[in-house]
Amino acid sequence: MKSFELDRLDFVFQDANSQRYLGRALAELSRTLQYDEVEKIRQNRIFLIITIAPGSTLSNFYFTPSEQRQSVHLVAIDKTISDHCALDTGEMAANILHEFGHALNCPTDGTSAVREFFADSYAKQLGYGAKLVASLRKYLASGLPYIDDEMRNLIHQRIEKLEDDEQEPLVGNPRELRQ
Ligand SMILES: [Zn+2]
Repeated sequence: MKSFELDRLDFVFQDANSQRYLGRALAELSRTLQYDEVEKIRQNRIFLIITIAPGSTLSNFYFTPSEQRQSVHLVAIDKTISDHCALDTGEMAANILHEFGHALNCPTDGTSAVREFFADSYAKQLGYGAKLVASLRKYLASGLPYIDDEMRNLIHQRIEKLEDDEQEPLVGNPRELRQ
């Protein structure tokens, strides 16, 4: 079942700046994701903001002040890096899915590298493997000063797995939120 409502994913936004910057990528995901996947994102309380720090996913984040005090997964996309790498809409969408993957597709245990592979696999299973690779290559080529050898090495491993058509999907679980 597919919906073609353009703004179906707008519930992830908490502020107008994030919506302005990421709205186009979210509109694309609204067209390509299955209804069930959108519902999973909604039910797991994933919110999306832009920051000037590297992209990250904070689980069990509380918006304050809040009457409900419900924790959420707060996904932060770095505007400076995204601009610097000149990501296109599909590449941006792929990165958003990778970050959502950190909230929705976690291994039961594993190293930080394994968590990256699971997040990548989530995006790949939703059809964004090639776009994620394209964005990772732009990131590697960006000349950003904090990409050290360890990070470079991990990104090469991620690209290798994303490009491997034989690789089985890595299926994890949503990371638990406190009520
Ligand atoms: Zn990640």
